[in-house]
Amino acid sequence: MRGLFSLVFSLTLVSGLTAQGYSSVHFEYRQLADGVFAAIHKTGGYGICNAGIVSLGKETLVFDCCLSPEAARDLKKAAEELTGNQVKYVVNSHYHNDHVRGNQVFTGARIIATTRTRALMEKLSAAEVEDEKLSVDERLADAAFKIANEEDTTRMAEHQLWLGYYQSMKSSHAEYKLTLPDYLVDDSLSLKGKKRSVQLISKGGGHSESDMIMWLPAEKILFAGDLVFIGFHPWFGEADIPGWLSYLQYMKRLGPAVVVPGHGDTGKSADIDEMSGYLTSVETILAEMVRNKIPVNRIGAIHVPEKYNSLYFRNFFTPGLTLQYQKKIRK
Ligand SMILES: [Zn+2]
Repeated sequence: MRGLFSLVFSLTLVSGLTAQGYSSVHFEYRQLADGVFAAIHKTGGYGICNAGIVSLGKETLVFDCCLSPEAARDLKKAAEELTGNQVKYVVNSHYHNDHVRGNQVFTGARIIATTRTRALMEKLSAAEVEDEKLSVDERLADAAFKIANEEDTTRMAEHQLWLGYYQSMKSSHAEYKLTLPDYLVDDSLSLKGKKRSVQLISKGGGHSESDMIMWLPAEKILFAGDLVFIGFHPWFGEADIPGWLSYLQYMKRLGPAVVVPGHGDTGKSADIDEMSGYLTSVETILAEMVRNKIPVNRIGAIHVPEKYNSLYFRNFFTPGLTLQYQKKIRK
């Protein structure tokens, strides 16, 4: 009887929690509305991407679930403690490892993604893990060397981010188990709970071949996945940039009050414009490269535009430009 009483008491306590002061080494959990939280990845943690936690009433949903199962367990625990309910739905915004590899810890939950996201995971994930295993120790040593020798504080923070990324990657290998989405959505799906509804929307590709966003119409909160990076260079190497730009226009028309990006701090509608501005400047640079017939081995000499000099993930720029340029000159 006493056991039952303490169980009921502790459930009452946890269901009333807010995210104030709730954080871990992996994430800072931030309350956006009653029952809606952003899990913001912390430098040095193993989360790597941001995530969302939404209480639908009796069910809890997690949007994106990070690179390592260790961080995903942290996310699951936070989701269940902050909402007082078990995680019933997990959404994978796209197939990239830092958004899907935590799937395996959400046993019993329905994992939702697009058909293309599932196909890409099925086709690429196992080989990707094997490739990572071959290079991860060298990448860790390289990041540690850069940290030991860096004097610039911004660059130091960037090296620390990458060190966390490689540590997270390595930690994921030991227990990796491919866990594929089991519920496929190719345009939109409304999930209605007692407390609120969320809309899962896919307009095809942009950042990846297939991206999905989550929109909370009543609260005007948008979980954008990697279609929006804030304070970071986006990874655009495999992107459909015109498709990405029209996706951003669609997101802008939704009129979000809060935008939760895949990487970086939470932002506002103006951050969607920033993202469009970045991609438009990449398109301008690419057009000039094509016009001037730049040899591929000279792309490294093209500077990051001044405006974007202080963004993290600077090392995304040259490989992204190279892949996009090769795609253009092959046409
Ligand atoms: Zn991505």
